[in-house]
Amino acid sequence: MSVKKDLDINSPVEAVPFVGSKGAVLLSKLGIETVSDLLTYKPRGIVDLTDKTNIIDLQEMRDQRVVVDAEIVSCSLGKTAKKRMWIVDAKIADDTGEIRVVWYNQPYLKKILEPGKRVIIRGLVGFDFSVKKVTILSPEIFFEKGIFPIYRLTKNVTSKQILRAVKNALQSGYRFEEFLPKEILDKFDIPEINDAVKMLHFPNQKSEFDIAKKRFNFADLLVFVLANLYQREKNKKLNSFKIKWPEEQVNNFIKNLPFQLTKDQVSVTSDISKDLEKQNPMSRLIQGDVGSGKTVVGMIASLAVSKNGYRTTWLAPTEILAKQHYDSAKKFFEGINFEVELVTAQTKIKNKKINYDADLIIGTHALLQADVNIDNLALVIIDEQHRFGVNQRSLLIEQNSRQPHFLSLSATPIPRTLSHVVFGNLDVSIIKTKPKNRLPVKTYAIANAKREDTYKFIDSLIGAGQQAFFVCPLIEEIEPEDSDQLFEDPAMERKTVDNEIENLSKTVLGQRRLGKIHGKMKSQDKQDIMLKMRNGEIDVLVATSVIEVGVDIPMASVMVIEDADRFGLSQLHQFRGRVGRNDIQSYCFLFSTKLAEERTKERLSAFVRNLDGFELSMIDLKQRGPGAILGLDQSGFKGFNPLWFEDTKILDDAMSAAKKILPNLNKLPKLSQKVESQFQTDHLE
Ligand code: ADP
Ligand code: MG
Repeated sequence: MSVKKDLDINSPVEAVPFVGSKGAVLLSKLGIETVSDLLTYKPRGIVDLTDKTNIIDLQEMRDQRVVVDAEIVSCSLGKTAKKRMWIVDAKIADDTGEIRVVWYNQPYLKKILEPGKRVIIRGLVGFDFSVKKVTILSPEIFFEKGIFPIYRLTKNVTSKQILRAVKNALQSGYRFEEFLPKEILDKFDIPEINDAVKMLHFPNQKSEFDIAKKRFNFADLLVFVLANLYQREKNKKLNSFKIKWPEEQVNNFIKNLPFQLTKDQVSVTSDISKDLEKQNPMSRLIQGDVGSGKTVVGMIASLAVSKNGYRTTWLAPTEILAKQHYDSAKKFFEGINFEVELVTAQTKIKNKKINYDADLIIGTHALLQADVNIDNLALVIIDEQHRFGVNQRSLLIEQNSRQPHFLSLSATPIPRTLSHVVFGNLDVSIIKTKPKNRLPVKTYAIANAKREDTYKFIDSLIGAGQQAFFVCPLIEEIEPEDSDQLFEDPAMERKTVDNEIENLSKTVLGQRRLGKIHGKMKSQDKQDIMLKMRNGEIDVLVATSVIEVGVDIPMASVMVIEDADRFGLSQLHQFRGRVGRNDIQSYCFLFSTKLAEERTKERLSAFVRNLDGFELSMIDLKQRGPGAILGLDQSGFKGFNPLWFEDTKILDDAMSAAKKILPNLNKLPKLSQKVESQFQTDHLE
């Protein structure tokens, strides 16, 4: 077949035969816009139907995923007793034995599963309590052997269709130009890009799929790290505001605080003072657990800036958080000649005369709008930057001829190995020591059987004027990792929360004031609920895992986490950080139905014992890989999926390759172009 020269890999995906405009609309829901997006659309995994298990061996394989190649012995269609669901009940056998397998609500299968037919069944080995025998749960049926990729899907798109589109694109002759230098490919033993595309979607063996994955992970990371390093170099050449550190005023401010700064707060403050005294802009990230006291450090920096005659803006991800910072700034700077202003969508409506000449201007996105102009802006502080979308900072910066200093605050502890890569464009300071007055949060992992007692205990705390959070993982009808049928269902969040409320209302907590919050609520409604919680008008707030972070609810002393085994340790730690923010004894209760499982028990007891976010994230990193820690919403990783990184070696490799390449980047035009475009998407968002 002759390959046409003028095929542009960046053409709209519509250009692929049989995709068409309808297909393109569907694919765009998955973020696939161009042929290039399609060819690099990464499967969530593969179904390997070549690795078969004998039926006789299933007895010993509870909870494992297996593939069985068997013959249908018999098959019947009936209805379940209570729920009146269709049930297809089949007996299957291979040379070693037979088992019963059932399908719910798929009556049409009766016609397909004819006795004598060979099928390949994939599923989880479980126990069928009705007949007290081992069975295969959530069985999927295949009729041909092989290895198939499974993709993240959306309604009306199947993995088969995606695969066919990829095939058609390749057959039409779309090819990538390699952008990695040959030495790098050789040194790290990774395939050329077009080979990798084939191995990604059409692997002959699992190892091929893994190699392809490695190639794309490596390349994505390398470009990302290069963009960070490049930005850092550029940053060094920029002109900023030289801040003379006002030793005396800062010391006075610290002396008048109602508490003593922790050792780490002092050392981070000193990092900042050194940065600010330089001519080029500071780019620093402060990492510290929730409640470790990052705010006051930012306040000190803004004081220093104001004593030099300049201003600070402080960006918070939500109105409530902005207001919270505003209130504490007012307190911190009471009696000092230091003006604080609040700018949110609401204050802009209510307050016609916003004072953009204040020393410290705290606000939300509203601060980034075109009508806002802040002279002499020397410092930009961003709280929980990853919640903003990337680099909003640049919007503020571009208004000025001199670059402001930049300070980012994050409550997600990330191990150093990882933060070097993710935040390669930033210097990182860490606050580890906790303020003295904190009581450690008492943490317990609790089997479901003990639920009632726990609720009674919580009820007694509520009686004493305290409040509780309940966090639940999203209800999923189908296991996310395992099914080809994963749809994003917007109703799930509501359903999750409603379920929990319904369960709670049947318990002793049912007479308390229950509130709910989830990500699909309107932002104003969410904020109203958080305010009610803050004002003590709600006793128990039920939330999905997407609840607001950072909001200070002083009287909340209980954090209950449902199905705790489904969260990473770092994430659990984030939830726990919502309580224990003052000198009341706080509690964190983890419920799990899987406490009998060794792995779960071990993981959760590590969490029970350990109150240090960095150590927990280290454990997460070792056990579940970097993706588990970063989560999908980390802005740093926009454009690719961190859940793909299963080990840290690839981080080190990408880092060392990037350092080697950086000085010669201008001699590698294709790679430069990639880096430049990464840099740009970052900045335009
Ligand atoms: P975060 O790091 O989560 O932003 P905050 O800065 O909001 O934490 O601090 C949480 C609370 O601890 C605030 O009420 C703050 O005033 C208080 N705090 C900060 N530093 C100290 C300290 N060194 N000793 C006692 N309390 C402190
Ligand atoms: Mg904070």
